[in-house]
Amino acid sequence: MKTVALIGYPIGHSVSPAMHNAAYRSLGLDFEYVPLEVAPNDLKEAIEGLKALHFAGFNVTIPHKEAILEHLDEVTRLAEEIGAVNTVQNQEGKLIGYNTDGPGFIESLREDAGFDPKGKKCVLIGAGGAGRAIAVSLSENKARSIAIFDIAGEKAEELAGYVGGRSVKDLQKEIDGADLLVNASPIGMHPKIEASPIPDGIRLHRNLTVYDLVYNPYETRMLRAAKAAGAKAVSGLGMLVRQGAIAFTVFTGKLAPMELMRRAAESALHS
Ligand code: NAP
Repeated sequence: MKTVALIGYPIGHSVSPAMHNAAYRSLGLDFEYVPLEVAPNDLKEAIEGLKALHFAGFNVTIPHKEAILEHLDEVTRLAEEIGAVNTVQNQEGKLIGYNTDGPGFIESLREDAGFDPKGKKCVLIGAGGAGRAIAVSLSENKARSIAIFDIAGEKAEELAGYVGGRSVKDLQKEIDGADLLVNASPIGMHPKIEASPIPDGIRLHRNLTVYDLVYNPYETRMLRAAKAAGAKAVSGLGMLVRQGAIAFTVFTGKLAPMELMRRAAESALHS
């Protein structure tokens, strides 16, 4: 039996164990996936423990995605560029870090939204861990421009400088000329489902694709506003499943049963 962990703090009601365990069962793999709550001060010891217990790997969530880097032996070029790791493979004691959030987002944008970022004008709300993965991936996929808005203005400025985008304050002006609007802030997430990262009075338009990384609830207030404006509205559940599917392949070496993982994630969300 090989074991894979999810480490985070707090770990909350994550749908990842249901998604990965359903995939292991369907392929008859002798693997299990367990959530482990790890406080920030215990990160180093927790990683040593995972190595000593021969875990096959682990996923990393808030707040460890950046802090984990100094404990790894190697990271992929993309993870290094993003500055965050959400998937770690244990190769006989050698820990290798990956970032599957960025590729999961781009794959979902292409496949679920039918949107190719090349040459497109993009607006990103939220410059935290996920926002970094989105901004770097949009830049790597040749977006024409990336305008970044964050309530912490200096974070938006730093990220914009890093990816060759610009930090913005006037969201309406940016949205009016944009092709893509992405929410990578936690605003709108359960239980505060009546909140929206788009301030009141901001208008969306029908030529916009609106992607919300928040997937609980499935249809956020921002996505309802997008639909009402005639825009294309896309839930972050697709990204969750696709980043998980890429991590599944890192851990097991097998192609992930993605549709089954999507159904398992949906039913875990509704349970
Ligand atoms: P994070 O590191 O805390 O970053 C969130 C950023 O948004 C912070 O910089 C925060 O600023 C900023 N922010 C908060 N309120 C805002 C507002 N009203 N307008 C603009 N910016 C605002 O969190 P994260 O790890 O990036 O995650 C962000 C969200 O993405 C979470 O809801 C997470 O569940 C989701 N996510 C989804 C997927 C997926 O697969 N679908 C993957 C990763 C993350 P302050 O720090 O000043 O509050």
